Amino acid sequence: MTETDAVVIGAGPVGLFQVFQLGLLEIKAHVVDSLPYAGGQCMELYPDKPIYDIPGLPICTGQELAERLLRQVAPFEPVFHYRQVVTSLARQPDGRFLLETSTGTRLLTRTVFIAAGVGAFQPRTLKVEGIERFQGTQLFHDVGDPATFADKNLVIVGGDDAAVEWALNFCAAHADRHPHKARRVTLLHRRDVFRSSDESLTQLRQSFEQRAIDLVVGQITGFTEAEGKLVALKVTDPDNVTRDLALDMLLVLLGVSPKLGPVADWGLDLERKQLQVDTEKFSTNVPGIFAVGDINTYPGKKKLIVCGFHECVLAAFGAAPLIFPDKKILLQYTTTSPRLHALLGVAKTASD
Ligand code: FAD
Repeated sequence: MTETDAVVIGAGPVGLFQVFQLGLLEIKAHVVDSLPYAGGQCMELYPDKPIYDIPGLPICTGQELAERLLRQVAPFEPVFHYRQVVTSLARQPDGRFLLETSTGTRLLTRTVFIAAGVGAFQPRTLKVEGIERFQGTQLFHDVGDPATFADKNLVIVGGDDAAVEWALNFCAAHADRHPHKARRVTLLHRRDVFRSSDESLTQLRQSFEQRAIDLVVGQITGFTEAEGKLVALKVTDPDNVTRDLALDMLLVLLGVSPKLGPVADWGLDLERKQLQVDTEKFSTNVPGIFAVGDINTYPGKKKLIVCGFHECVLAAFGAAPLIFPDKKILLQYTTTSPRLHALLGVAKTASD
């Protein structure tokens, strides 16, 4: 179990800026996100699209904003716990909170900042009864370590960018793309229409023509197991004919969808699936638990990144007295405060 002063649930833009504001007040944070990377909606839903309403940044993409925020929080050395969902949050007898995640991480903290946005982004899974028991051995919902699929008879399910890119990456005919190659790659999608860059789509068509990648159109309707192993999928094509498709590994890349899930079960006041907060500290009804960004609601709430950023400042100042009860919490400017310069690791300027 790790003890800390603050846990931020969600590494979206608002969760990241919360880490920064906590850092300025000398509060170290652990951050948990279900995704394998930071950025929340910006990275998952619109990484290449331009944002025009971040103050002082006339234009930047979702991905660029996430990268800039990560650079901004770096001096405070937050500890990120990716690929895990915070599943439980319970108050302890000493007033602290115990958070547990889907992968077994346990964090004991004085304060919690819920920056969960529209919910935990989780991979869309196959709706085939019983197949989930192969999860982590033969069934995967993200690539993780690509070496897992090397020299295997690999079936990739999906029609979007990720499925197309990884089918090409694992295909031996595209040596320059990726070091790990599968023995055989089959791309399985419910229709013969794929979404990716023009260049990748051209490569994919060529790979189908050259039989470097097999294309199977249809839906998985069952599977065959032998000696505890997944040996074949039953795939039903658009003409309702079902065939066996042999495989070693199944990589399902059907994208992600947000699930509010556990946040709704923590006894916090909700209004239409959003956490109710005050606008002085952005505290929930439980002292010590704050909520910022798209997950919260209050009169006049606007689901904009800039509004979430403002909320982070007041939440950090709201939390500081709980962590440092004997310390006077001062508002200082990053331009002029030597203390903040030291925290940020920036050189002294003449004005210091
Ligand atoms: P999110 O970005 O949703 O991040 C929340 C994170 O928390 C996610 O990564 C999620 O996986 C994680 N999480 C949730 N619950 C858990 C849990 N239990 N355990 C672990 N992890 C969890 N806003 C603007 O201001 N300007 C724009 O131009 C703009 N354009 C947009 C365009 C599109 C297409 C969309 C969809 C939104 C746009 N927005 C824009 C809105 C903006 O993206 C959101 O306001 C912002 O992302 C909210 O940030 P957040 O950090 O609160 O939540």
